[in-house]
Amino acid sequence: MHDLIDLHTHTSESDGTLSPIALLELAHVIGLKALAITDHDTLSGYDEAARTLVRQRCELELVCGIEISTRCKNRSVHLLAYFLREAPTQAFRKWVDTLRAGRQDRNQSLVGKLQAMGFEITMEEVNQRGKNLPGRPHFASILVEKHYVTSIQEAFDRYLDESGSCYVPRAEPLLEEAVEQITAAGGLPALAHPVRISQDPQVVEEFVRGAREVGVRAIEVYHSDHCPTDVSLYRSLAHRFSLIVVGGSDFHGETKPNIQLGTGRGRNVQIEFSVLEDMRLRA
Ligand code: AMP
Ligand code: FE
Ligand code: FE
Ligand code: ZN
Repeated sequence: MHDLIDLHTHTSESDGTLSPIALLELAHVIGLKALAITDHDTLSGYDEAARTLVRQRCELELVCGIEISTRCKNRSVHLLAYFLREAPTQAFRKWVDTLRAGRQDRNQSLVGKLQAMGFEITMEEVNQRGKNLPGRPHFASILVEKHYVTSIQEAFDRYLDESGSCYVPRAEPLLEEAVEQITAAGGLPALAHPVRISQDPQVVEEFVRGAREVGVRAIEVYHSDHCPTDVSLYRSLAHRFSLIVVGGSDFHGETKPNIQLGTGRGRNVQIEFSVLEDMRLRA
């Protein structure tokens, strides 16, 4: 058995369902050697886990990360950032806090649209469920609970996704701006799940070339949504553009019940400790 790690996970501080402490415990139970917490647009899950780890003197290596939704060429592009040497600066934390305003405005309009559809849903309910970072998965779980839909997926497909009838875009920073902020704060910017860019390898290649030019330094090769063909393609792009290879399950707990911590969907993810060592060496 190899030493396995997971570098892409979410806690209840964003849209996952496990608390930072529960996530640490699960990582420990399944024997992970390293875990990165990469909540959407917040560092508070990592912060809480880091405080606990100091108290428990656990063997598990905790990596500081974040996943930022950005805008690039009219696409929503997720950017991961890893802080391997030192903690993110206060300036970076302040910038991350500014990302919340756009989310709050979007949530307000989304509640309005859903109410206009005749659904009983209020901002208070969403904020109560989303706590630190209310987002679409929280809307989805309310719609499931009230039997308007039968699954989170159906809520996204029918109402919340870009093609859904109630979709409201959210103000997102440009990819370039996010890369600059991450780099200035000492972080490693990594393109998350490139499979979402396009199914067309040519389009992904052009995108990756552009991302490299604006300072993206790593690419998520391993991910629960990547099939073996995707993995080979992204590995070859990493090689071609001298990008550092990263990977993780994108674990969200019950928000995405088919994805397991460390191993992804039906064990389609297996990331060895050497991936983290290589990141440290090259970052
Ligand atoms: P938000 O940041 O509030 O716009 O919500 C985005 C989050 O919703 C993503 O990070 C995913 O966790 C989740 N999400 C987005 N699209 C889907 C989808 N089609 N199915 C399930 N979850 C989704
Ligand atoms: Fe998410
Ligand atoms: Fe993502
Ligand atoms: Zn994610």
